[in-house]
Amino acid sequence: MTKTIFEKSIPGRKGAILPQNDVDIDINDCIPEKFRRKSEVKLPELSELDVMRHFVELSQKNHFIEKGFYPLGSCTMKYNPKSHEAFVRSSCLMDLHPYQPEETVQGALEILYELQNDLAEVAGMKNTTLQPVAGAHGEFTGLKIMKAYHIAKGNHHKNEIILPDAAHGTNPASVALAGMKVVEIKSNSKGMVDVDALKAAINENTAGFMLTNPNTLGLFEPQIEAIAAAIHAVDGLMYMDGANMNPILGVVHPGKIGFDVMHYNLHKTVSTPHGGGGPGSGAVSVVEKLEKFLPYPMVNKVGDKFILDFSHKDTSIGKVHSFYGNFAVNVRAWAYIKTLGGKGLRRAAENAVINANYIMKKLAKVYHIPHDHTYCMHEFVATNEWQKKRCFENLGDKEKCNIKTLDIAKRLLDKGYHAPTIYFPLIVHEAMMIEPTETESKQTLDEFIEAMIEINDECINNPEIVLNAPTNTPIRRVDDVKAVKDLNVRFVW
Ligand SMILES: *Cc1c(COP(=O)(O)O)cnc(C)c1O
Repeated sequence: MTKTIFEKSIPGRKGAILPQNDVDIDINDCIPEKFRRKSEVKLPELSELDVMRHFVELSQKNHFIEKGFYPLGSCTMKYNPKSHEAFVRSSCLMDLHPYQPEETVQGALEILYELQNDLAEVAGMKNTTLQPVAGAHGEFTGLKIMKAYHIAKGNHHKNEIILPDAAHGTNPASVALAGMKVVEIKSNSKGMVDVDALKAAINENTAGFMLTNPNTLGLFEPQIEAIAAAIHAVDGLMYMDGANMNPILGVVHPGKIGFDVMHYNLHKTVSTPHGGGGPGSGAVSVVEKLEKFLPYPMVNKVGDKFILDFSHKDTSIGKVHSFYGNFAVNVRAWAYIKTLGGKGLRRAAENAVINANYIMKKLAKVYHIPHDHTYCMHEFVATNEWQKKRCFENLGDKEKCNIKTLDIAKRLLDKGYHAPTIYFPLIVHEAMMIEPTETESKQTLDEFIEAMIEINDECINNPEIVLNAPTNTPIRRVDDVKAVKDLNVRFVW
């Protein structure tokens, strides 16, 4: 175990020399007695080098994209260009204050204005808000806009959102948060929307349909136009969860195939290091009839000046975040789009699809891939079924061969890979969702495929290795449930 920074402390060792205090104030005058420290604070005493080594060592115990392949399905853990990090950290952007007068932040507003427009173009829709700061937050914003549309028309009864059981987990949660009712329909045997079930669920109260597309199985929904026609027939609205835009960027424009509103996960699709809860940007694009409900302010251009436009305040759903959302994430998204351009975005999408299909085809011989399909989009879902079965056929011991998807994921850690997303989507038993992204080379994909094939052999011939994995990570298996229910992160020195 690594020692904590407190345990590494050596009394008297110093890492910094502070200048002499030349401010003439008596601390007793400004801090009330009850807030004053009664005893000396215990801080670790270390040199600069000790501290550097400590944190670098800790960071290396973690997994990150610069360290290794990170095929975490649905999360799009692509490599983010360092030039964009340098750009966003430049003082001309980072030293701005959100309360600065508009005329002093014209460049920053121009970036936001261009990003709004670029995202609207990619969506095939009219306009975009950059305020939401996460995918789920974008969903909430989009659903509020849908609700506002119905209320503006006097249709207060329209409060049901239909969604398939393959939906990303945040979808039903966002519907509930936006004050509407979830109506879930089953997917068909191919993992796609069952249009008959959808038609049966549509009624006067239908406010809209919400679709994760491509869905959580990595499949593009082929019946969108039929679905949109049925929903629009009752004046419902079509919402697209576009967190998975990565494989269709510049290829499919959701607004042109029947969607009225969508969110992006800019932190996934157009780059920002993410994971661990943030920061993100869940920009929302809408078609013309929904534009007036967007959060305020929007960035607009009047003549050659960029302004914060509050003119639709009366019809807007209001603000969903302070100022302009996560500015730095939006700047990275802008840099990514401007660097690649329209053709580049499309190429990134195509490469994401090719990479996922390459792994899927190579692994289809050894891993069970349900919802039998000839190709996938940016990700695919496999299971542990064959490993369990083949192990039993070989060793004849049910207990020894009780290999779970969790075990396969843990074994991948031993081989230096981040595990795929596991046990999601819920509609696949023991799911393992693999998304390579476009930034990986064929060599990396081949090495990963090789590791997965090795694990398959281990499952069949030597399952203990897999059941006991991981063996060479800093911590073996953690008790996830205890960690959540009985969390204690205090360190007592
Ligand atoms: C990641 C993801 C979300 C949620 O995005 P957050 O930024 O984590 O809130 C929603 N839908 C899909 C399909 C996703 O992959």
